[in-house]
Amino acid sequence: MTAQIISGTELAKTIRTNLADQAARLKADGIEPGLAVILVGDDPASHSYVKGKQKACAEVGIRSFLYTFPVTIEEETLLEKIHELNADPAVHGILVQLPLPEHIREWSVIETIAPEKDVDGFHPINVGKMMIGQRAFLPCTPHGVLAMVKSVGIEIAGKHVVVVGRSNIVGKPVGQLFLREHATVTYTHSKTPDLAAITRQADILIVAVGKARLIGPDHVKPGAVVIDVGVNRLENGKLCGDVDFDAVKEVAGYITPVPGGVGPMTITMLLHNTIEAARQLAAK
Ligand code: NDP
Repeated sequence: MTAQIISGTELAKTIRTNLADQAARLKADGIEPGLAVILVGDDPASHSYVKGKQKACAEVGIRSFLYTFPVTIEEETLLEKIHELNADPAVHGILVQLPLPEHIREWSVIETIAPEKDVDGFHPINVGKMMIGQRAFLPCTPHGVLAMVKSVGIEIAGKHVVVVGRSNIVGKPVGQLFLREHATVTYTHSKTPDLAAITRQADILIVAVGKARLIGPDHVKPGAVVIDVGVNRLENGKLCGDVDFDAVKEVAGYITPVPGGVGPMTITMLLHNTIEAARQLAAK
């Protein structure tokens, strides 16, 4: 049996139609949702991600403001810009494209963003609130993953979720979101011995590592839901995930493709958070 493909592109399209309606309603009330994007340096991948985010904003009716800085920018100058945007009423969300150059402390930048404008959900206040189940901006990729699993209508409560990878932006928070949904969650990482023995126990397997084809059919329980967060560029220039898609789709029950999987959902959740931020700031 071949796995059913969960298309992030299709799901994102449906959600974005709804977000465009919400943005139009806010605009009719005199509030145009606005997202400020800060881009430092000239990394081509970062430029391309930012372009994609701005295009998506325009499609749903969110204004985006782009601020680009040279790789040599001082941390203090960057923080000043963030303070300015924190105080700007036309800006409801602030996004700093990561990674930043080494001389800039990432945590210092993230902590300077006002939590109510932290639409990436990286500020410790939002991370903490998410952990204890309070209302918070959820980090976009984990939130997108959860929406994809929910979209196929399977029961999450009581399921065994195995997460491969434990980064602060994907692995750790995605496990927390599934724990909130009453799954049993196991985290694995680079020091985990016999990874396949653990991933084979997963009803829902979420992979966020950054290693092409790390996960093969021997890592997957027949019928499992497999969510591939990884994005890797092959020597031939093509993108692929962390999961060997062609082989694993013969074992899994559901699988996400790369590209066209988690990526479009990440951007969609950013749009969702920006509209929510606009609504909350307008209600103050
Ligand atoms: P990080 O590099 O921050 O984290 C990678 C994680 O993978 C680490 O926890 C590491 O373990 C673990 N790991 C490394 N090797 C192995 C291994 N052999 N077996 C098991 N675990 C291993 O990456 P991110 O979380 O930021 O991103 C992961 C991937 O997801 C990347 O490809 C990235 O491009 C992609 N991504 C995609 C997004 C999207 O929207 N589609 C958004 C964000 C990321 P340890 O902690 O022990 O070092």
